[in-house]
Amino acid sequence: MHVTDPSYARQLDQQDTLKNFRDRFVKNDPRLIYLDGNSIGMLPDKTGKHLKDVVEQEWGRGLISSWNKGWYDRSQQTSALLAALIGAQPDEVIICDSTSVNLFKLAFAALKFQEGRTGIVSDNLNFSSDIYLLQGLVELFGHQHTLHLAESHDDIGVDMKTLENLLGEDTALATFSHVAFKSSFMYNMKEVTRLAHKKGALVLWDLSHSTGAVPVDLGGSDADLAIGCTYKYLNGGPGAPAFLYMRKDLQQKLKSPIWGWFGQNNPFDFKLEYSPAPGIERFLAGTPPVLSLSALFPALEIAEEAGMAAIREKSIQQSTYLIQLADEVLAPLGFRVASPRNAHVRGSHVSLGHEEAYRICKALIDQNTGNWVVIPDFREPDNIRLGIAPLYNSFSDIFYAIMEMKNIVEQRWYEKFALNKEKVT
Ligand SMILES: *Cc1c(COP(=O)(O)O)cnc(C)c1O
Repeated sequence: MHVTDPSYARQLDQQDTLKNFRDRFVKNDPRLIYLDGNSIGMLPDKTGKHLKDVVEQEWGRGLISSWNKGWYDRSQQTSALLAALIGAQPDEVIICDSTSVNLFKLAFAALKFQEGRTGIVSDNLNFSSDIYLLQGLVELFGHQHTLHLAESHDDIGVDMKTLENLLGEDTALATFSHVAFKSSFMYNMKEVTRLAHKKGALVLWDLSHSTGAVPVDLGGSDADLAIGCTYKYLNGGPGAPAFLYMRKDLQQKLKSPIWGWFGQNNPFDFKLEYSPAPGIERFLAGTPPVLSLSALFPALEIAEEAGMAAIREKSIQQSTYLIQLADEVLAPLGFRVASPRNAHVRGSHVSLGHEEAYRICKALIDQNTGNWVVIPDFREPDNIRLGIAPLYNSFSDIFYAIMEMKNIVEQRWYEKFALNKEKVT
């Protein structure tokens, strides 16, 4: 059977060991093909009921007594579930704040700890927010530091030699997205960490595009620090709190720049002298977002039940299938694969470049164009990102999304759409 045959997709779906997990997510439109789980994951079917209970029982009935009946420790409880997905110990992870704020806290702490070292190393594939935060830290520390960005030569990946040349005896901190948000390039975490440690640098990994999509082994990689979000492949919902990780032996040495009461040794002492909590809690600042934390429970349980190894296996199979289809069907229409072809250095999304990428995205999303409502997203300058979430995407989803793209370009349907961009693309 040929790869462009729809029954090939059906056969792969039948053989899919994770196929039953699709029903664990809310889907209202049978024509919907959702390929944006790397931006905001779908709603698990249990989340609505669970949140309703938390709101009505814990808040409505329990009121303030609920702080002693689970609210106070909800962050720690949720963190333990998450830790198992990223190769960390439960007391090395805490869920709080946003990814951006957590990056600030950890990078600040690392630079302070490494005083005297003046280099910060990242790469030009990194997420804009991460780079802004580093630029802000350079200013905050009075321009003592220099930010070095490793250049990608193909806009897809960064080679190890380039990276190694930027790491020096003066490097305080090296920080990268484990999986690049645009190209999906994935670093060898263990190898990069080893190279940075050889120079005495601390390493901070942004796991936003990894967590719940690829197995991460922070412990086995000897990683120092990490951050990431929970609303993408983990399906925690819009505004779900992020997480931060710090290896156990660093926790007594590094301090948060935000000395809030939840990071204090004993918040309800109300002592007027700050002393940080001994463990990872010292990186908490203020009152946790209990409702958002609660929404994470059903979502993390699904990921745990499916298992990261099975998720990754299906993800590789699906992204490889997508690239095969793109090569056969879309390449003659001006598309190019803008992600690594080697599955071992690729995350769970695939970017396709096309000069009309923006309007093709508009046509894919439009209800009245074609047979399906396909939701990818657009990333400047010409990328269509197709996020594959193995928990709810089928092989048929991928097949019909590619066929829809083919029709849109062949029939020139995208020409109906305006070129001006909306605020969120
Ligand atoms: C999504 C994402 C973020 C998000 O940061 P927020 O503070 O949640 O807005 C950060 N870094 C990377 C690499 C991301 O992909």
